[in-house]
Amino acid sequence: MSISDTHRRRKGLLIVLSGPSGVGKDAVLAEFLATCPGVVRCVTATTRAPRQGEEPGRDYHFLDLDEFRRMVEAGELLEYAKVHNNYYGTPRKWVEDTLATGTDVILKIDVQGGLAVKKLMPRAIAIFLAPPSVEELERRLRSRLTDSERDIEKRLSDAKGELERIPDYDYLVENDSLQDAVDRLRCIILAERSKIER
Ligand code: 5GP
Repeated sequence: MSISDTHRRRKGLLIVLSGPSGVGKDAVLAEFLATCPGVVRCVTATTRAPRQGEEPGRDYHFLDLDEFRRMVEAGELLEYAKVHNNYYGTPRKWVEDTLATGTDVILKIDVQGGLAVKKLMPRAIAIFLAPPSVEELERRLRSRLTDSERDIEKRLSDAKGELERIPDYDYLVENDSLQDAVDRLRCIILAERSKIER
């Protein structure tokens, strides 16, 4: 066995990426996944209707409320939360099985879910992706044109509460420019992979 095999963990890292709606999580995550081999994104479940261009099984597992409730009752979700009036949850078995193969798993989930995962699995690496300012977040949300005015207002007021939870996270990454944010994210993961198992 090599020296690094003896001293480093064999299971994958569990990475939580949270941040307010509109901060650019999807763009950062797509670029990060394309440039950081060994990390996969967990496809989570939601009761929200698919947006245009979204595909079942690729973007989300789109479920009706009854099926979502069944999964909750059967303990099939690692965590779940109500976000902007819809339910979202993380499939437990997929996460556990993937980590067991030594692959790193990234969960793109909201702050309630992120903190729930951190409580259940304290070794999870919780990363908060923040906008440069609340004004910039509003501008990004409005330029997206996928949500109604009511949705935008709700997402903005939720964002203010989410930003207050930054101190509960392990890392703060500002999404000022896509490339810089991705570089910072990659540095965090590379450093975490080099940690010595105690
Ligand atoms: P959207 O509807 O814009 O795709 O997602 C809304 C929010 O729900 C985002 O912050 C997203 O990260 C979060 N989310 C997606 N999947 C999950 C999940 O499984 N659990 C939790 N707690 N949040 C999720």
